[in-house]
Amino acid sequence: MPATPYNAQHLAGDTWVVPGLTNAGFIDGLVIDTCEDEAPFAGVAVERLVITHGHADHFAIGHVLRDAGARVAVARDDAALVENPDINIRGMFSWAKPGDFLTTKLFRGTPCPVDEYLEDFTDERAEVIGLPGHTLGHCGFLTRDGVLFTGDALYLTSLWERHPLPYAIDPGQVAASLRRISEIECEWVVPAHGYPVTREEAHGHVEHHLAQLAEIEQLLLDELREAMTTEQAIALVSQRRGLRENPASYWLAVTTVKGFLGDLLNRGAIEFYVHEHAGWWRTAK
Ligand SMILES: [Zn+2]
Repeated sequence: MPATPYNAQHLAGDTWVVPGLTNAGFIDGLVIDTCEDEAPFAGVAVERLVITHGHADHFAIGHVLRDAGARVAVARDDAALVENPDINIRGMFSWAKPGDFLTTKLFRGTPCPVDEYLEDFTDERAEVIGLPGHTLGHCGFLTRDGVLFTGDALYLTSLWERHPLPYAIDPGQVAASLRRISEIECEWVVPAHGYPVTREEAHGHVEHHLAQLAEIEQLLLDELREAMTTEQAIALVSQRRGLRENPASYWLAVTTVKGFLGDLLNRGAIEFYVHEHAGWWRTAK
């Protein structure tokens, strides 16, 4: 029986990274998120799987590991998304029944039953670090070897070109989580997409991510001096950030731009009103 997945890369102590479109972590039978390919885990004893958040690309083979005996843990707020990935699609469409056009592969996933919540989770191999903002229950994991798996809480600088408007339900929380990542004593930071970086290198990536958030916020504050509808604000941010024009990008932008609008509204920086049955936003005077 192999002790670790065959393609795992050693980072520190007993902590390994299993590279993929989504990077997984492996420490002594504990798996952190999953890559899309089940082959590396064939014959490897996995008794626990922890999932950073309820997006299907982070638990693609969760059901396979669970069928082979792993217990699955996720935060309470994201558990329903793992057990029923269709909820993500419903949420994106304001809970109304979406047409088939919305159920693209991007939002589809294989459901995986959840056995325990991260709120009750104790394990000497890794500690749960709450990093909300990308989703409500998003968590990172710090292994006993000083390796911090950050899920989608941190985007590496090189990733911004392909993802100029990373999905976020609450950019204010994303910023707070980024500051938390900076403060954590660790040796390595492993984002779910990209490659491992040292803690020192991570600071630069955190600063870049924070600067991008501030830039998007400032764009809205500047442009909303002339009132805009929600749809206009989504189109404006999408254009300025250089998003590709397709339904998947649009629906992800809908949530993220609303996240920014809600955050600015909460802080009293912008106002919301309804006019001619449309929702409008403008910078507060
Ligand atoms: Zn995600």
